[in-house]
Amino acid sequence: MTLAAAAEGIAEAIEDFIYPHLCSTCSGSLSRHERYVCSRCWDSFDRVVPTETIIQAIESKFLVDEAVDLVDSVFLFEQDPRVRMAVHLLKYDGAEAIADKFGVYISKKIAGDERLSTCSVIAPVPLHPVRQRERGYNQSDLIARSVGRNLEIDNLPNLLIRTRQTQSQTLFDAEGRSRNIHGAFAIGPEFHKRICGVRVLLIDDVITTGSTIKECASTLRQGGASGVCAASAAITV
Ligand SMILES: [Zn+2]
Repeated sequence: MTLAAAAEGIAEAIEDFIYPHLCSTCSGSLSRHERYVCSRCWDSFDRVVPTETIIQAIESKFLVDEAVDLVDSVFLFEQDPRVRMAVHLLKYDGAEAIADKFGVYISKKIAGDERLSTCSVIAPVPLHPVRQRERGYNQSDLIARSVGRNLEIDNLPNLLIRTRQTQSQTLFDAEGRSRNIHGAFAIGPEFHKRICGVRVLLIDDVITTGSTIKECASTLRQGGASGVCAASAAITV
């Protein structure tokens, strides 16, 4: 060990002693390689498991029109306040570490699914440029990058672009959300050829009514995509 590395190690140990890094959801100590949320919490978050109730709840969001071939998600958003806390950190604290972890869980879940593994490109649900400038990043893109790295699939953050700023979806019921988001997306100008005949995996942070995913999927299909699947970190069921 060099003197500089030893000094850095001592400085980190002193910092940990003065300002212990604590898990945002259980307040337990974080180990050196953990950020924001401890591994015990991550592993105990409420999961999307294929019970009849959950399958029906997900299908009811997407079965009506067939824009999306398949949807999967990892965590239950409403049932577990710790999941909501992690999503909040992701959106408002610039927590790249949270996005990485969400991406790892999504990748593990969909890696064994043949229907999802036929997707050859990943596209995050885009934010409007104004919103992205305010936030400094697109949280869905951070997750999509992690999924792309883990599954070795190209993530194309500009495959879909948002053409107009919409009001927050939280202001509307399911029908209102569809109207609010209708026509809000387009294929990025440099991707018109690339998209033809390609199956796309859409990535979002949280799926609620599914309106945004369906609108993105319709845009991709109209642009020539041969299929669209979607996966998110969390979902309401
Ligand atoms: Zn914890």
